[in-house]
Amino acid sequence: MSIHCPVETSDPTECILWKTHALTIEQVHGAFDLLTIVSEDSHSIRKLLCCKECGHLQFYEFNEEVDWQEGKDGQYWTWIPVDDEKSAENLSVISVMEILMYPSIRYDYPKGSDSARGPAWYGRRSS
Ligand SMILES: [Zn+2]
Repeated sequence: MSIHCPVETSDPTECILWKTHALTIEQVHGAFDLLTIVSEDSHSIRKLLCCKECGHLQFYEFNEEVDWQEGKDGQYWTWIPVDDEKSAENLSVISVMEILMYPSIRYDYPKGSDSARGPAWYGRRSS
């Protein structure tokens, strides 16, 4: 069991993405400017993004499940609003499963599925 540095996340209640009830993937992908690519390999990428409209920082993660079998691999996108770059840095070293503890927008394309789930908010503490 490792001890993590603090990750501060507050709900971005002023953000258009927070206030929109039916998000579209085009809207989410188009909402951010890239600040930094945190890490990248052929099946996953982590970035720090910034909302074009409200400036809220977002930690972004994309993962592709690779099982070397036939068919389309599962693909997972996560956007987590963070309060500062230090929090994004601390998030960037934790595992994919632990990242899911934080309030986030998720968009999933599970393996073998014909349609995507989301994008939608998960773990919101307020509305
Ligand atoms: Zn925003």
